[in-house]
Amino acid sequence: MSAQVIDGRACARALKASVAAEIEQLREERLPIGLATVMVGGTYGSLAYERRLRRLAADLDVPYVPRKLPVTVSQAELDDTIAELNAAPGVSGILILRPLPPHLSEAATFQSIHPAKDIEAVHPQNAGLLALGVPRYVPSTAASAYHLLDTWLDSVGEDRADFYHRSLIVVVGRSNNVGKPAVSLGYDRQAAVESIDEWASRTGTLGRHTRRADVLIVAAGRPGLIRAEHVNDHAVVIDVGINPRTGPDGVTHMVGDVDHDTVAPRVRAITPVPGGVGPVTDVWLLRNTVAAARLNSARLLSSQEPS
Ligand code: NAP
Repeated sequence: MSAQVIDGRACARALKASVAAEIEQLREERLPIGLATVMVGGTYGSLAYERRLRRLAADLDVPYVPRKLPVTVSQAELDDTIAELNAAPGVSGILILRPLPPHLSEAATFQSIHPAKDIEAVHPQNAGLLALGVPRYVPSTAASAYHLLDTWLDSVGEDRADFYHRSLIVVVGRSNNVGKPAVSLGYDRQAAVESIDEWASRTGTLGRHTRRADVLIVAAGRPGLIRAEHVNDHAVVIDVGINPRTGPDGVTHMVGDVDHDTVAPRVRAITPVPGGVGPVTDVWLLRNTVAAARLNSARLLSSQEPS
């Protein structure tokens, strides 16, 4: 029997309608909103993500400020760009597109974002709040993975709390922006959580962990990493990976980290790539931008108050 395919596009459409209503509400209250992205150089994944965000912002009529910097940019120049966006009243949220070239410090760059505009929660203050279970912003990719899970649980009539309390969530990949937030959100749901990285593959223990998963969240950036032998028949698989793969026809397609054709027939439910986590992530980022618009307006207002 083939798995249920969790439709990320349908989920994103529903979420987009509620975000559009929130943006309309901001307009009625005359509160400014704007999204800024900063890209240094660009990769297959970051260029595609930037294009999607540009389209979505236009669609939702949200002012969009893209900053494209050459791959040779210095840390000081990058920091200056972020300082300019921090100070811009029309910019509510700032997204730094990863990866940065190796001569730039990701930690220093993330720390230079104003925490109120840090819609991906990469600043240490926001990452700390997330780890403590009291997030200011929930990073969009991990949030989307759980939003898809929650929506699917609702659709099959399973109680969310009951499901998470008796589940083992295995997260493959532990980057600061995807894997670690996915672990934190699993803890918040009182699930058992296991986090694994490349060492599991190097030591040949990947399957030993993944086969026990009730929920398998895969964010490694390795096309086809998870195959049929890595899953059990009741697993729900969330494939976060976005990778280019050039077929025999010379055309490049987007594929996930999960070998969908062999895994889908073996598991209970699975997200596709494309059309799974990606579309929900985009809308979630705009949702965080709305929250940031409110927070920044309140911040500006309080700074104008006479002391
Ligand atoms: P990243 O920063 O490169 O981190 C990858 C993580 O995966 C690292 O922790 C790494 O382990 C681990 N890993 C690498 N190879 C592995 C292997 N063979 N077995 C087990 N673990 C392995 O990547 P990222 O930013 O988290 O992104 C991961 C993937 O998600 C990429 O394909 C990216 O394009 C995609 N992505 C998708 C969305 C979306 O909306 N769908 C959003 C963001 C990212 P070490 O720590 O040991 O190096």
